[in-house]
Amino acid sequence: MNTSTNILHSIPVDELTGSIAVPIYQTSTFVQQSPGVHKGFDYARSNNPTRKVLEDLAAKLENGASGFAFASGLAAIDAVVKLLKSGDEILAVDDIYGGAFRLFTQVYEKFGINVRYVDTSDLKQVSAAINPRTKLIWLESPTNPTLKVSDIAGIAEIAKEKHLLLCVDNTFASPVSQQPLNLGADLVIHSATKYLSGHSDLIAGLVITKTKELGAKIKFIQNASGSILGPFDSWLVIRGIETLELRVKQHSLNAQKVAKYLQQHQLVKTVYYPGLTSHANHKVACRQQHYFGGVIAFDLKEDDALLAEKIVSSTGLFKLAESLGGAKSLICLPAEMTHKSIPREKRYSSGVKDSLIRLSVGLEHADDLIQDLEKALQKAYKTSLFTA
Ligand SMILES: *Cc1c(COP(=O)(O)O)cnc(C)c1O
Repeated sequence: MNTSTNILHSIPVDELTGSIAVPIYQTSTFVQQSPGVHKGFDYARSNNPTRKVLEDLAAKLENGASGFAFASGLAAIDAVVKLLKSGDEILAVDDIYGGAFRLFTQVYEKFGINVRYVDTSDLKQVSAAINPRTKLIWLESPTNPTLKVSDIAGIAEIAKEKHLLLCVDNTFASPVSQQPLNLGADLVIHSATKYLSGHSDLIAGLVITKTKELGAKIKFIQNASGSILGPFDSWLVIRGIETLELRVKQHSLNAQKVAKYLQQHQLVKTVYYPGLTSHANHKVACRQQHYFGGVIAFDLKEDDALLAEKIVSSTGLFKLAESLGGAKSLICLPAEMTHKSIPREKRYSSGVKDSLIRLSVGLEHADDLIQDLEKALQKAYKTSLFTA
């Protein structure tokens, strides 16, 4: 079966009633026949039937043995880090999601888990950085906001050889575009807040494991630490996933058009989009991704923070907000928003200039989106000439 068919028919019809939509089991506990004898559910932190449908669906989407739903993407990341112990080390992608960086450095370093960062798009740097304490390689591909792509299969080989775990944050690609477990990773995490739910209306996270054994460990952590996803939000993510492939396909078609438009624009310097042949990792992206997604970043010929600020404040359809992956297009200025806490020098070394603008291209008509950007670019440029 093809992906869309497979997804839709992996969501079970309710056996009890025939309900085609998954029932929302809004309950904290389950009545037992005698102590310990029940229908597979005892307490809703440990297990909930609605959440279980999402968890099984997530495992299926990523071709894993087990899936787990968490209260946020960060809670999912947190659960994976808890597989480690004091003295262990993580080797992570250098332009990592800011929230993961904050969790690693400000929470886990004080528990004795050290994290080092390398350019994972270069396999040699990954191999060279591994030491006896390294236990986990942490990858994002594509990354935020410059869409750097790493060779997941290549890094998985290195991880196998050194007996390390490989976890891939697959939020930007989504499972209809890229399946890291098939490329050799051990774990996948998602911020289901983004493409999986797809409508900018909830916060959720997922962990999917390649093996049942790793799954049992994550299950223990999920129940012991308790940051589970509630039944209603689980239901919303399931509903979002029904249209995942349709949406990701359209996000990608729209983004490709917007990226091409930006590439020929006289005010724009560099466009970062893995679907462009000019992108540094375009070939690797073609090999491991079916779609290139809806996120684009670009900077300006004049690396002027004020000009960039004017642009992101002048669009009408692109709403100024953090996050991505929703039906409505968003625009943001990483240097002033998502990446504000990162020192300027470190920011520049990973390409996040003052004038770098990130777009989450939504599901509006591409022509309307291009017109919206054109108006904003012209307006900002004119007012900047006037004030200069
Ligand atoms: C948003 C995001 C996260 C964090 O997810 P939340 O649901 O906001 O906790 C992690 N990784 C990536 C790549 C993200 O974009």
